[in-house]
Amino acid sequence: MGPRFPEEQKIPNRFDLIVVGAGSGGYAAARTARDLGASVALVDDGPLGGLCILRGCMPSKTLIATGDLLHQIHNAGELAVEVGTPHLDYRALAERKRTLVRGWADYRVAGIETFPLFQGPAHFESRTTLRVGDEVLYAPRFVVATGSSVAPAAVPGLAEAGFIDSDAALDLEAPPQSLIVLGGGYVGSELGQFFHRAGVPTTMVLRAQHLLSGEDHDVGIGLTEYLREEGIRIETSAQTRRVSVRADGMKVVHYVQDGEEREVAAHEIFYALGRVPNVDGLGLENAGVDFHALTGIAVDDTLRTSNPDVYAVGDVTGTFPLVHVAIQQGEIAGRNAATGARERADYRLTKTHTIFTDPQVAVVGETERELEAAGIEYLQATYPFNDHGKAVALGRTKGFVKMMASPDDGRILGAAILGPEASDLIEPLIVAMAYGATVQDYARIPHLHPTLVEILTYPAEEIAERLRAAAVPLAVAK
Ligand SMILES: Cc1cc2nc3c(=O)[nH]c(=O)nc-3n(C[C@H](O)[C@H](O)[C@H](O)COP(=O)(O)OP(=O)(O)OC[C@H]3O[C@@H](n4cnc5c(N)ncnc54)[C@H](O)[C@@H]3O)c2cc1C
Repeated sequence: MGPRFPEEQKIPNRFDLIVVGAGSGGYAAARTARDLGASVALVDDGPLGGLCILRGCMPSKTLIATGDLLHQIHNAGELAVEVGTPHLDYRALAERKRTLVRGWADYRVAGIETFPLFQGPAHFESRTTLRVGDEVLYAPRFVVATGSSVAPAAVPGLAEAGFIDSDAALDLEAPPQSLIVLGGGYVGSELGQFFHRAGVPTTMVLRAQHLLSGEDHDVGIGLTEYLREEGIRIETSAQTRRVSVRADGMKVVHYVQDGEEREVAAHEIFYALGRVPNVDGLGLENAGVDFHALTGIAVDDTLRTSNPDVYAVGDVTGTFPLVHVAIQQGEIAGRNAATGARERADYRLTKTHTIFTDPQVAVVGETERELEAAGIEYLQATYPFNDHGKAVALGRTKGFVKMMASPDDGRILGAAILGPEASDLIEPLIVAMAYGATVQDYARIPHLHPTLVEILTYPAEEIAERLRAAAVPLAVAK
């Protein structure tokens, strides 16, 4: 199916497709639909650039790079290099981050401006009309990609005491003198470790038993222990009750742990307890789009909402809040909206994710918890970095890799890495799983030596060997 109303193209503000939100997901949808010949307009209430570039992945990874370097310098003695105590120039770091973000954003904005662009908050007036300020835009189809915002602070006394969220944490001109991080998800863990490495005494307070409560326990517990060893105080299984301010101005978090009331004080509190979808004020009800304030816009596998002519992608759908997911969803929605196709999103590999702590975390395919919950049988093997020659030579021995495979044929079902450069090391397994590889395939492929990534061959070989051994009696019986 081509553009729906080609004869009406000359009517002002009428397009084949209007994309609301020009972040990672919306921009991908707009580009994809335009490449297929659709006339596409973008709407965004700014600032232009999207969360990843402006207040997410890129600024956080810029800060973390400096934190990691400081840590390496502190530990240079392990590799026989004596250095003095490093000094962090936080103002220079903030300026470096600003400059890099500006460059990335400028590039993205140049791309956005190749579309007819309407700047301002969007509001659906009907299933085919969208108001942006004084302008009314028309289209038979829409993609909503309005992203998410920091969740409102829900702890009594926190708003009165004052706190920073991830937006503010990335924009500081000077580090706090001491910090309490509320929450042990990936944002709290990544930035909590950064602030600790930047010299800020840091305490993390979390409800779960370990950091990254959604991950397998060995991964989450392992990371929690490593961060503790590094000097971060981590209070687990802690129910935050309220926040108060002491006479000396220190902010106090009161929590209950092991049935006892406890407290911790610091100069600043970083509230890192999640995000909510941006659905307010969009007038989605006027477009027949069902949504929920906390879980966002419900979509089917083809990214269609309850109105089949309105698609939604990215964080606003409440699926996996990751850039590569937003982009994949955007591309699929763009193709489906432009052509009327019913292409489906497949999250088997897309839900691959990584966390930029040190050691890093990277997960592909199913976790053990998911396999167990689904009642799927699997074989598992792990291998520690402290027994891997290259990791030992580099002095980067924290963590392990593990692989899960089908006991029937050795097909790789999932893998997790807690270790150095996990975000890069996971890549060959994504490719292997994309092609349906088995552990036997993976073990047979040549791998360079000595490399960090060759560690993945050990669990693959171990499972392949167990399968081979198990098959021998069967072969004999035949
Ligand atoms: C601190 C932090 C670190 C992160 N690190 C990573 C990482 O390392 N890797 C990773 O994959 N993900 C990371 N993420 C998550 C990632 O940034 C998001 O999943 C992704 O950017 C979401 O893209 P999106 O297109 O859904 O939304 P966005 O990029 O947020 O785009 C939404 C757009 O919609 C516009 N908009 C909103 N409301 C309206 C309205 N009413 N009218 C018009 N326009 C509107 C906004 O201005 C915005 O431009 C991180 C997030 C945070 C907060």
